[in-house]
Amino acid sequence: MQRKESHNTICSYCGVGCGITVNKDSKGVLSVEGDKTYPVNRGMLCSKGKNLNYVAQDTSDRILFPQMRWSRNHPLQKVGWDTALKRAAAVFRSIIENHGPDSVGFYVSGQCLTEEYYLANKLTKGFIGTNNIDTNSRLCMSSAVVGYKKTLGEDAVPIAYADIELADCFLIAGANPAWCHPILFRRIEKHKEQNPDVKIIVVDPRKTQTCALADIHLQILPGTDVILFNAIARRLIERKKIDFAFIKRYTSNFEACKKRAFELSLNEAAKKCGISVDEIKAAAGVIGNAKGFISMWTMGLNQSVIGVDKNVSLLNLSLLTGQIGKPGSGPFSLTGQPNAMGGREVGGMASLLATHRDLGNDRHRKEVQEFWGGKPIKKEAGLTATEMFDALENGSLKAVWIICTNPVVSMPNSNKIEAALRKANFVVVQDISHKSETTDFADLLLPAAAWLEKEGTMTNSERRISYLPKVLDPPGEAVPDVEILWRFAREMGYPGFDYNNAGEVYDEYCLMTKGTNIDISGLSYERLKKEGSFQWPVPHKTHPGTPRLFQDKQYYTVDNKAHFNAPAKLENQSERTSEEYPLILNTGRVRDQWHTRTKTGKVKRLSTHIPEPFLEMNKVDALLYGLKEGDLANVTSRRGSVRVKVKISFDIRENVVFLPMHWGKLLNKDFSRANNLTSELIDPISKEPDFKYCAVRVEKYQKP
Ligand code: SF4
Repeated sequence: MQRKESHNTICSYCGVGCGITVNKDSKGVLSVEGDKTYPVNRGMLCSKGKNLNYVAQDTSDRILFPQMRWSRNHPLQKVGWDTALKRAAAVFRSIIENHGPDSVGFYVSGQCLTEEYYLANKLTKGFIGTNNIDTNSRLCMSSAVVGYKKTLGEDAVPIAYADIELADCFLIAGANPAWCHPILFRRIEKHKEQNPDVKIIVVDPRKTQTCALADIHLQILPGTDVILFNAIARRLIERKKIDFAFIKRYTSNFEACKKRAFELSLNEAAKKCGISVDEIKAAAGVIGNAKGFISMWTMGLNQSVIGVDKNVSLLNLSLLTGQIGKPGSGPFSLTGQPNAMGGREVGGMASLLATHRDLGNDRHRKEVQEFWGGKPIKKEAGLTATEMFDALENGSLKAVWIICTNPVVSMPNSNKIEAALRKANFVVVQDISHKSETTDFADLLLPAAAWLEKEGTMTNSERRISYLPKVLDPPGEAVPDVEILWRFAREMGYPGFDYNNAGEVYDEYCLMTKGTNIDISGLSYERLKKEGSFQWPVPHKTHPGTPRLFQDKQYYTVDNKAHFNAPAKLENQSERTSEEYPLILNTGRVRDQWHTRTKTGKVKRLSTHIPEPFLEMNKVDALLYGLKEGDLANVTSRRGSVRVKVKISFDIRENVVFLPMHWGKLLNKDFSRANNLTSELIDPISKEPDFKYCAVRVEKYQKP
């Protein structure tokens, strides 16, 4: 291919945040390759990243112009941008005047760029006057946010990818990085290949591809993670494999943690977890002897009604061993989406305030209000993801604006989500693709620019901020999300939205971070373009960035100490299995698909790996229910059902089944949508739903 131009950008899929070089030839045809200079992936890309050029150039599914319906009985019709935004502003104004600001809400995405996230928050919290803005990141990592805050005083990931090559022990819990964070996994794999003494412990009820690298696989019963982490803590304490000096000098609440850890004997814990005492002892032995211990986790811990307890009990292990704030060590929550971290930084959740300021803190709210020049910000958290759809259903929320996410497939109890959207007075959907099932519910459909069609920044799992350049013009009348937001704000008559480009939004946000723990006032677009990516904080113009936090052992808590937390609950309290629903359903991802397949579904070669949804089931259970490999089965929960082919395996425990979450409508039927089954039960603190534990029954499908 004759290259005409090349641009370095960041992958639009997972939170690993790999660097991608996009090449455009003289005919405008794109190709992609791993950015060899980028420190995250050093030229590597996984199957999803390697095919992003096809996604970017196939515009057949794109929403090309604004569309509006005057009433629910009318079809969507093409309108101009002015008409669309005037109508949106008129409806929002009318609803707010009649029912108050809390009668509207925004539901956004961890795929939004930081500038978009920031502006959506400014608009909602600062000017509309409601905290009803939440994000699909609520479904992925809000339990980790709370865990970090409770332990370290702030949502601050202490570690960098560079620590991987310095560690000699990894505890990977509730995560399958081999499929879901492949390039990160490749770095761990390579490190172990070069250093055979490196030990890897995997905690997962399923034997996933990540287990291929495991020295110890703790195949626990679903929902027993806290018991396991407490048992490991107990063993470490009993064997005096803890860092007494660190605990004494730099932590608090050790005794409460110890008391909780000693509530169950190792025998009792092993029995509850469904593993042996020897396995617990072996895992504790490896952790206790490690020079550099890293824990990594994602949805298996976060997506639970005891997600916060799972997080704090795992974080306790880093504090017990003093393995934080030093090379090759630390607790590392991996993010699923490319800019979940950026969203956290700008306060992109109903319970957060911009720049890691605290929504419950009067001074912080006043600072933000004065900076924005807007309305007083409410102290109480707004509606979180599931609460927002509950409120639509009960009529207290009248209008919702959905940006870059597909809740009809991704939210738990999907049938309820559809009912809620039908009940809403006004639904705005701002997205790139008609393939999102949520567009069917739009009263106003707004075409957004996609990856490569706009500029902005993102932050990956290790706090690394990168600049994404505009490479292509958006198709049709699509415009960047950030522009849609500022044009709507101006239609609403709000001051402070007179931006000309995303760079001005970024500069304002950087200024706002000054003096905070996430200070990036030294990081301009110019610096990012010229010098590459930086890990926050970057508090002045010559600051090199901060790969590792807490090297000074000064935590962001009031007493500057890291806090042990005694988990409130030991076991998952999700719905119980019963005679009618005897199996536990676990949902998750497969290697080559992403979220609800609006992007990966466009690439044929990505569907060759796993072309359709399936129910993974243990051979013993399959025999019990009279099922063979490839049989069609109905899976039914208390909320709905799906019909999928059965995949028989010994990699999953008896009484547990697994269903991937990516598929929505198949052949125009919702038979394969995993979230028909899941429940909207949430963690009481993080409000994160439990996608990993619901009761189902499985029956062979009989043709009528
Ligand atoms: Fe993209 Fe994640 Fe794959 Fe890297 S590992 S190429 S960020 S999907």
